[in-house]
Amino acid sequence: MTKLRDERATPSLLDVPEVRTARVARVALLRPIDKTYNYIIPDELADSIQPGRRVTVPFGRNDKPSQAFCLSVSDEPWESTLKPVLDLVDDEPLLNEKMLELGRWMSRYYAAHLGRTLDLMVPAATKRRAGRRKVKYAVLTNLPGRKEEQEKADQKLTKKQNDVLNVLNNANGRLATADLCRAAACTDAVLKTLEKKGGLTFETRLETVDPVEPDVQRVEPKFELNTDQKAAIDQITRVVTNRAFSVQVLYGVTGSGKTEIYVHAIRRALAEGRQAIMLVPEIALTTQTIRRLQERFERVATIHSGLTDVQRSRTWSAVASGVIPVVIGTRSAVFAPCPNLGLIIVDEEAEPSYKSQAAPRYHTRDVAVKRGHLENIPVVLGSATPSLETWNNLQNRKHYHLIRLPRRVRDLPMPMVHLVDMRMEHKARRGVHLLSRAMESHLEEVLQRDEQAVLLLNRRGFASYLHCPRCQTVVVCPHCSVHMVFHATTELAHCHYCHAKLAVPNRCKSSGCGGTLVRFGMGTQRVEAELREKFPDAKLRRIDADTMNSASDYADLLGAFERKEFDFLIGTQMIAKGLDFPFVSFVGVISADTALALDDFRSEERTFQLVLQVAGRSGRGETSGHVVVQTFASDTAPIRHAVEGDYEGFAKLELNRRHESRLPPYTRMVRIVLADGRMSKLRTAAESLVDKMQTLLSKRGLPARILGPYPAAIPRLRDRYRDEILLIFDTGTTLIGAMDLFKDEGTLRVGVKSLIVDVDPVSLQ
Ligand code: ADP
Ligand code: ZN
Repeated sequence: MTKLRDERATPSLLDVPEVRTARVARVALLRPIDKTYNYIIPDELADSIQPGRRVTVPFGRNDKPSQAFCLSVSDEPWESTLKPVLDLVDDEPLLNEKMLELGRWMSRYYAAHLGRTLDLMVPAATKRRAGRRKVKYAVLTNLPGRKEEQEKADQKLTKKQNDVLNVLNNANGRLATADLCRAAACTDAVLKTLEKKGGLTFETRLETVDPVEPDVQRVEPKFELNTDQKAAIDQITRVVTNRAFSVQVLYGVTGSGKTEIYVHAIRRALAEGRQAIMLVPEIALTTQTIRRLQERFERVATIHSGLTDVQRSRTWSAVASGVIPVVIGTRSAVFAPCPNLGLIIVDEEAEPSYKSQAAPRYHTRDVAVKRGHLENIPVVLGSATPSLETWNNLQNRKHYHLIRLPRRVRDLPMPMVHLVDMRMEHKARRGVHLLSRAMESHLEEVLQRDEQAVLLLNRRGFASYLHCPRCQTVVVCPHCSVHMVFHATTELAHCHYCHAKLAVPNRCKSSGCGGTLVRFGMGTQRVEAELREKFPDAKLRRIDADTMNSASDYADLLGAFERKEFDFLIGTQMIAKGLDFPFVSFVGVISADTALALDDFRSEERTFQLVLQVAGRSGRGETSGHVVVQTFASDTAPIRHAVEGDYEGFAKLELNRRHESRLPPYTRMVRIVLADGRMSKLRTAAESLVDKMQTLLSKRGLPARILGPYPAAIPRLRDRYRDEILLIFDTGTTLIGAMDLFKDEGTLRVGVKSLIVDVDPVSLQ
């Protein structure tokens, strides 16, 4: 029986049915669409269509020409319904196979449209071909060997024209027209005449102009690496040489010399003939780190939001061609098109700014790890306070390895941290003082010894609220449900969310109350005012989003501080991390409680990181460092552990708490925020979305806890009401399963003005 069937299954040549196949491109449109589509590739484009290039295809009811990324090319059975690709957009692929794969993963994991995700991975400037220019070349036509004919022809030429051809000949027969005119001291018209006479032809090419690289002097440090650093470098260079995926968690206390480890790791990658990417949280605050890298490597490209279009596009091309081996940059640098990547470093991996706040809401660190996995290369995650996600992964994932730097370089002591309980302080002194007596005396000492101090307050503005003591109301933004903050610089009340500004009323406006409004709470401007009053001789500068307009403002100010041009630097959390100033002997935390007040399961972790990190700015030079931390919550775990510099103790405690409450990193969270101008419509949509999700998930056996809908932490923003839903899954696999399901079923298409899906949110604000 079997035999018979086998024979019948082997068709003879004669009865092979004629299967028509077609060359087909699978594409993802650059539109909010979840599906991908097939298009027939016409013969004239057959050689040029490749995955990673953009094409134009007819789409929608009117076959409107629309752009799409080509994902793959294959031979498929011919179908009459297939439409043809209309045109090719790019001269060369913008994304290689691995980057396409990374994009597919991101779009799936972060529940974002594939076309839009791929689009985001390539700078807009590159897509517009900024920084590339058309260059016109003159090419000599008469070939060597036809000497006689040439001489005959030459006689008909003027001396000028002959000169031009000679110059061209000496340049191997090809020269940009602009250069040729300059060298032969002639005009374009001469070249045109020569073209008519057949002496030369023109040719146009699209060329990339070289990126401008900063002129930084190469310096090698004079110190010797300590034993911990040597051991760390040994381990990392070994994995870089092995060229296999792994995650090396570099947990080094503040001032332990992590940058040196990065430098040696990158050197190893370059020695292997490969490239390296180093990611940094925010460029303005990492100018120091960047400069240190530039001092150590021949060619370093920087990618950040401060670049002009042309710079961005040139840098991208230079990296793609492999000319520049080291890339350093913020979030989007994780997509740097290195053709032969050997290493990715994520500095300060716990920084919340690594999470993108626009779709796809990806976490740069997690994308870096995924890219490392796809490229099969090591990834280094560095921090003095690793995120609890990373710390937990060290225990559970076999690819994660811990490297410790437990001591500061040069055996410098860790800073001495003093806690000031502001409740006691207020009792002991009359009036409200922003600065405790301990803080004041340390600042006094700093001035006497001609050293420097950093003062941190995690809030901008002058006062936090405008408060009516009579009826207990506060002034809120007319468009958002948040307090307005009084700014002394503008004398206006600002909304830090929608940037609305209001003239400050003297009297309370709430129904006939008429009480006198008082400013309550404190911001950086108020700290500045108090410092100026108490230390009239001190030179001080404030650094926050209100005083800084561009990346170069930050660089200038930090540079001036480094050169000791002023004594006190006052700022928000942006000054807490990464900075290394040898003359800073004192750090004051005006209030450690600002982050604790937030209703977010990560408040404790943030508070701990902030206090420990800012304390780490102190005592990095010859003089030992002191830190004063002012708090109303001196008995809370994050503050206590931060004061003791005890990361591991804190991590253990906080991880226990997260485990008990079934919170990340033990679970995976998705936050959905719906917004609409009409409250009733919003609530109905949110409730029916929860119902739909619940039904779908239980039908497919995907367990999830669904919380909400309830008003978001900011229940109204820019005149829209906001509702929040939290989904909590036990594993990443269930989460992806759920996101796939919602995509397939179109579940998240609900009729509200906006819907945000935030997978692994870093903030619930
Ligand atoms: P971290 O990032 O771990 O806080 P940095 O990398 O900024 O520390 O290093 C702190 C300072 O110590 C830098 O000025 C660096 O040049 C210096 N440094 C690094 N390694 C050594 C060493 N082995 N001996 C002396 N100084 C060092
Ligand atoms: Zn507002």
